[in-house]
Amino acid sequence: MSTPISTEGTICGTLFIVAAPSGAGKSTLVNALLEREPAISLSVSHTTRPPRPGEQYGRHYYFVERGEFEREVGEGIFLEHAEVHGNFYGTSRKTVQDLLGQGRDVLLEIDWQGAAQIRRTKPDCVSVFILPPSRTELERRLRGRGSDSAEVIERRLRNSRGEIAHAHEFDYIIVNDRFEDALDGLQAIVQAVRLRTALQCQRHEALIRELLAGG
Ligand code: 5GP
Repeated sequence: MSTPISTEGTICGTLFIVAAPSGAGKSTLVNALLEREPAISLSVSHTTRPPRPGEQYGRHYYFVERGEFEREVGEGIFLEHAEVHGNFYGTSRKTVQDLLGQGRDVLLEIDWQGAAQIRRTKPDCVSVFILPPSRTELERRLRGRGSDSAEVIERRLRNSRGEIAHAHEFDYIIVNDRFEDALDGLQAIVQAVRLRTALQCQRHEALIRELLAGG
């Protein structure tokens, strides 16, 4: 695996993708991972979905009207975009490229369609799929969230099979049964990726040269 170098000579960061059916606990896991690994930047997506109570523009999403989203698609500003549960979502190409170029690791919380698009353009990305421990538990978590209408919950439950059917396309699968175990698993993936030989050889070039010198 080659390691991309930015124009400034920095080793580019890694692009992580985390996907899951609604209710698997993906956002809670990702937020806990970011607390443990503050060097990872979370990409804030654009969406046509209306904000849930407490969600803030620019922090959780860039909430935009359908017309604006379509204009942005036309301008090519998205690295990937997809329709999910009847709303449109997209990842800003520039934000992701800039962060990766600065050597930051970037995490995208996106659906399987977005993940498939990214894999085609960025085959070095690392993708993780989160599964719930059972269908009953998925339903319980989705209903327990309390921020979506009954209709939205039913739709997300119906769509969960379609999402889960793509789990095998991902590099890693984590079953989110015991939260701490799932979080440890997610962090272990991040840490293992950072220790890949291609990256380590770049980072520790001087050390390796010194260790090989003389004698
Ligand atoms: P929610 O409306 O619950 O925040 O997100 C619904 C689904 O859309 C989730 O599966 C989430 O991962 C996905 N999603 C959020 N942002 C993006 C994005 O930028 N692109 C794609 N393809 N999916 C996204």
